[in-house]
Amino acid sequence: MKFVTERFFQSASFGTVVCVIIALGLITGCGSGDHEGDYLGAYGQQDPRGPSQIRFDQMELIFPVVGPTRYSDDWHQPRDGGAREHLGNDLIAKKMSPVVAVADGTVSWMHAQKGGECCYLGVSHQSQGIPYESRYIHLNSDSLGTTDGRVVGIAKGIRHGVRVKAGQLLGWVGNSGNARHTISHLHFELRDEFGRAVDPFTILKRAQPIEQAR
Ligand SMILES: [Zn+2]
Repeated sequence: MKFVTERFFQSASFGTVVCVIIALGLITGCGSGDHEGDYLGAYGQQDPRGPSQIRFDQMELIFPVVGPTRYSDDWHQPRDGGAREHLGNDLIAKKMSPVVAVADGTVSWMHAQKGGECCYLGVSHQSQGIPYESRYIHLNSDSLGTTDGRVVGIAKGIRHGVRVKAGQLLGWVGNSGNARHTISHLHFELRDEFGRAVDPFTILKRAQPIEQAR
């Protein structure tokens, strides 16, 4: 049975399994290789850039989603049938739940979709003089109750280079990009001063939820 199982998962049928899982409402395809950026964390202690000096463990961030949210430590779970690892945590929330900046910072990149201002963005921050970045992915791109991809999921005035305050509205939860066929969620990432993604789970657990965007 073990042999059969392994063969099954090694076969081309794996994509089918993934689709079935998606149909069950679980997230497997969330985030994309393109938009989640490069994976640098595998270097570990061997990374020539050395260990990060950033102290995420001492930070008190604002929780990035306003309203009921559920999530688990899905960091490094396989994605795209094992072709890549998950570089953040998926925060499952109702579509159009407000997404807010976890700390003061500057919008450092945005990804436009269909010519609009949707649906990914990053904010650069500093802590004790050391830079780091938060990323907010799969922001809404649809008109209410549809999947038309026509609505701007990023808040007014949020654009590249703009300063934002902790808790400020950035946009709204959705399922844009390669999350199109999954339930709505925010793919959230934290990156150190070298751009390496870190597991945000324990940091999110400590983060302060707010009742409404500031
Ligand atoms: Zn994700």
